Amino acid sequence: MEASFDKGDGFIIFLNVLISMRWERIVEYEPVIGLEVHAQLETKSKIFCGCSTAFGEEPNSQTCPVCTGQPGSLPVVNRKAVEFAIKLGLATSCRIAPYSLFARKNYFYPDLPKGYQISMYEYPLAEHGFIEIIASGQKKRIQIIRIHMEEDAGKLKHGETPETEAFSYVDFNRTGVPLVEIVSGPDIRSPEEAGAYLRKLRAILQYLEICTGDMEKGTFRCDANVSVRPKGQKQFGTRTELKNMNSFRHVEKALEYEIKRQVAVLEEGGEVIQETRLWDVNQGMTVSMRGKEEAHDYRYFPDPDLVPLRIGEEWIEKLRQHLPELPDQKKERLIGQYQIPEYDAEILTATKAMANYFEECVHLFPEPKSVSNWMMGDLLRELKRDEREIDQCPVSPKHLAEMLSMVKEGTISGKIAKEVFGEIYRTGKFPAEIVKEKGWVQILDEGEIGKAIEKAMEAHPKQVEDVRKGKEKVFGFLVGEVMKQTQGKANPKLVNELLRKRLKGEG
Ligand code: ADP
Ligand code: MG
Ligand code: ZN
Repeated sequence: MEASFDKGDGFIIFLNVLISMRWERIVEYEPVIGLEVHAQLETKSKIFCGCSTAFGEEPNSQTCPVCTGQPGSLPVVNRKAVEFAIKLGLATSCRIAPYSLFARKNYFYPDLPKGYQISMYEYPLAEHGFIEIIASGQKKRIQIIRIHMEEDAGKLKHGETPETEAFSYVDFNRTGVPLVEIVSGPDIRSPEEAGAYLRKLRAILQYLEICTGDMEKGTFRCDANVSVRPKGQKQFGTRTELKNMNSFRHVEKALEYEIKRQVAVLEEGGEVIQETRLWDVNQGMTVSMRGKEEAHDYRYFPDPDLVPLRIGEEWIEKLRQHLPELPDQKKERLIGQYQIPEYDAEILTATKAMANYFEECVHLFPEPKSVSNWMMGDLLRELKRDEREIDQCPVSPKHLAEMLSMVKEGTISGKIAKEVFGEIYRTGKFPAEIVKEKGWVQILDEGEIGKAIEKAMEAHPKQVEDVRKGKEKVFGFLVGEVMKQTQGKANPKLVNELLRKRLKGEG
C-alpha cells in the first residue's frame, strides 16, 4: 500500500523542532506498547496445499489451484504447521485451545487471489501465555494475549525496464505459506523492553527450530502499537500502529520517535489520532499511512471449507514432552553449571549457536568466566561491526581456547591477547602461529625488562622524582612507559615488581 507523503519538507522540519522542544517533558509520560509479530513457520509445504515453500524459486512456479484461489478447490490443513504452532504455544506458557477455528478475513488486494486471507479470529489456537524478559537489569513478564495461525499473501514486484514502462508483477509462491501471529499484551513500557521481547521471542522460535527469525528476509515481522499517558493515569491513551520496520533496531528507533511525537502532540494541547503509521528509515520518522476511517472492515466469518481444529490432550502432552531446552532453561542451566552471572547467561543464550560456542570453548578451556568475558567483549563487538552471526565467526571455540591457554601459561600477555584475537579474526590462523610469526611472545627475561625500565626512567626523570616523593599515581604512568618500550610484550607483573625495586634503588 502506498503511503501518502502529503506533508512538505518545511512541515517536517517544523515538526522535528517541535518534537525536540517538547520532548524533555517526556519524563512525565509513560509509553504503553503492544507488539504483533508474524513469524513464518518452516514447514516444507504450504499451510493448505502441498506446494513447496522453498524461497527464491522462479516466480509462480510453486502454485496450485488451492493457493491461487481457484473455484472448486479445497484447502486441507497441514498437520506439521499445526504442530509447530502448538509447540510455540507451549514454549510461551499458553493454554492450547481444544477447539479453534479458521476464519476468512475479507479484503481485496492483488497479492491475495482468493479475495480473503484464511486466518483465525474468535477462536485462536493458543491464549494467555507470557514471555520473560530482562531490560535495564529488571526481570519482567510480558503477557501473550493470543497466538493464531494464518496464511501469508503473495508478493508484488514493481519496477521499470529500459524497454517497457513501469510494471507490476505478482508472485504467488509465498501465497499460503504458514504464519503464526503472536499478540502481546499492552505490557511493554519502553523501546528497550520491546527490543528485549522481540529478541526473546525470536530466540524461542529458533530454539524450537520452527522459524528462521530473519527480519530482513521477512520471516519475522513486527507491527508495534504504541500510546502514551501521563504518569499515574490508569487509562491508556490513544494508540497508533507502526509498520515497515525490518530490524530490531528500527523497531526501537521507530518507537522512540513515535513516543516523542505523541508527547509533543499532547503537550501542544492536541490529540493523538488512532492511525497506522509507516517508519521511514531515511528520514528517521514515522509518517501517516491511513487513519481509522480508512481501517478495513474485514467481515470475518468461519471458513466453511475447513473443519474446526480439535486438538487432543495426548497430542499436546506428547509435544510438551519433546520440547527442546528453551532459552530460559538453558540460561538457568548455564548459571548453575558454570557459575556465570545471569547477565552473561542471558546474552550467551540469545541464540543456540552462541550457547553452543560457549559450551564448546569451556570444554576446551575450563574457565567459564574468562570465556564469557571474551565472547561478550571482543567477539561480539567484531561480529556486530561486520553484521555477522556467530556461526560465521572466523574465531572458532578452538582458536579462542588456545589463545586463553597461552595467556594462562604466560606465553602472551593479556594486552597482546587483544592483538592476537584481532589477528585470528582477520586471518583465521591459529594463535600459536600468529604469535610466532609476529614475535609476540611475552618477555619474562628480567635483564631485558631491566633495560626497558632503564630507558623509561631516563626519558621521564620528573616522573621518577614524583614517585620517589610519594606520588603513587605516577607509578602507573611509568609502568605504561616500560610496557611501551617492549611493545606491550613484557610481563606486567614482573614490570611492576622490578620497577618498584629499581625506584627504591634496590634493582
Ligand atoms: P486490533 O484487533 O485492533 O489489532 P488488539 O486488541 O488485538 O487490537 O490489540 C493489538 C495490539 O495492540 C496488542 O498487542 C495490544 O497489546 C496493543 N494495544 C491495545 N491497546 C493499546 C494501547 N492503548 N496502547 C498501546 N498498545 C495497545
Ligand atoms: Mg491486530
Ligand atoms: Zn498450492
